[in-house]
Amino acid sequence: MLKKIFIFLCFFTVAKAQDSLRYSIDLNRLQNDRLTVNVKLPAGVKEFCFPKMVPGTYAIYNFGRFVSNLQAFDATGKALSVVRKDTNTFFLPNASKLSYEVDDTWDSPEIKGTYIFEPAGTNFQQDTLFALNTHALLGYIKGREQVPVSLQLKTPKGLVASSSLQAHNNTYTASSFQQLTDAPILVAPADTVHLRVANADILISVYSPNRKIKASEVEEQLKPLLKAQLNYLGGTFPVENYAFLIVMSAHLKNGSYGALEHAQSSFYYLPEDSISVMGPVIQDVSAHEFFHIQTPLNLHSKEIGSFDFQNPQMSKHLWLYEGLTEYAAQHMQLQGGLISLPAFLERMTEKHRTSYFSFDNSIPFTKMSKGVLGKYKEEYGNVYQKGALIGLCLDLYLRNETKGRYGTQQLIRDLSARFGPEKSFDDDDLFQLIAETTQVKGIKKFLDQYISGNKELPLKELLPTIGCELRSSDGKKEKEAILEAMNQELKEIKNPSPSQLNLRKAWMYH
Ligand SMILES: [Zn+2]
Repeated sequence: MLKKIFIFLCFFTVAKAQDSLRYSIDLNRLQNDRLTVNVKLPAGVKEFCFPKMVPGTYAIYNFGRFVSNLQAFDATGKALSVVRKDTNTFFLPNASKLSYEVDDTWDSPEIKGTYIFEPAGTNFQQDTLFALNTHALLGYIKGREQVPVSLQLKTPKGLVASSSLQAHNNTYTASSFQQLTDAPILVAPADTVHLRVANADILISVYSPNRKIKASEVEEQLKPLLKAQLNYLGGTFPVENYAFLIVMSAHLKNGSYGALEHAQSSFYYLPEDSISVMGPVIQDVSAHEFFHIQTPLNLHSKEIGSFDFQNPQMSKHLWLYEGLTEYAAQHMQLQGGLISLPAFLERMTEKHRTSYFSFDNSIPFTKMSKGVLGKYKEEYGNVYQKGALIGLCLDLYLRNETKGRYGTQQLIRDLSARFGPEKSFDDDDLFQLIAETTQVKGIKKFLDQYISGNKELPLKELLPTIGCELRSSDGKKEKEAILEAMNQELKEIKNPSPSQLNLRKAWMYH
């Protein structure tokens, strides 16, 4: 019996190796700010593509722009002709090996096109830092996105690589391109901390060029947050390990900063300052990013579950993925005693103000979400404003109807338990699923009116149920005051000194 199993395993391993995509990069060989990527391909490849967009960014980036000098070879080593069909697609039938050069996205002003938010990009600095969001470095085989992949990474002496994926013999392996690129790698001088919280191993890795902040200080900041997250999630984390990869910058390249979420990690690009200045920001950004382990990572529709890197389809439910995540991040901080009730209400008020003055709330939220890559691009930021307020209203509505027993916290837990990372729901079924799960009277009508409809959120009606009220103010005067404050902020951003920035307003979420 044992023998039979052994034979089967051998066969399986061989089959896997032949049908995999193997990348290798030597970080010691940085030339003209470019890295060389070598790729071994399985048989029968026709097209090799680079992502047009990646999950969590909600913007078209065309990572193929950063690729040059791509050469393809057949199994005997003979050079093949390559046709670049468009920015992201190379036609190279029967190639079995490839090599190409790739520029970093942080430091390549000569490459035109959409600015890439730093936490989604790359930075190569010999001897000091390699910020590797591998979706900006690696391509995949069109039509065979699900083949296993591996990345061999040679790192310079004195630098260590941190990622939620574990490397063996300098090689990272994953079951698909999506899984590999969902685990960014930070290569920097060692400043890492490992800690165990409940069922999860947590890695914190920090790059602070002037050593203003240490991983151990970030650890002290994150410990109470992780504890509060754990309680909020019901005592168990849905992942076994998680990495916080943090790059601090003395000169913000584009004036904005923030983070990007992944299934088991989040990548941060933040202004460099001491823990006393940056601690609260790190806490707030991490609270949001870490909550993405619930949505969309454990609860998502088909558009996200099988992500199309070339022709990404948007889901209608950004209010769930980003809005409810942001609401939960704030609600958890309140519940865990990390912020006071007045601070929580002030944050919600600020969201209401920003949503009201900066976005078009007449567009139904599901419609905006579906069209966020095109027509409604400018409205994206509202997912963190009105999206979070939708979360607040939905929570208050549910609690009201259930005498406080049931809220969004339990709703997300219940839906995640039903779906999880592998199973996607149909976009059109979500409201019905929520109605079935909650069994709350009128919930379907609530969702139809305020999320797929454009009816003004019922804050006036719901806030008094928790002893608060929505006070109206002089709209014109308030708008002038906000515009003035925004202008002042822009001036400061051009000459950024983190301690002077209004840290809560200037960062971008993802
Ligand atoms: Zn987010």
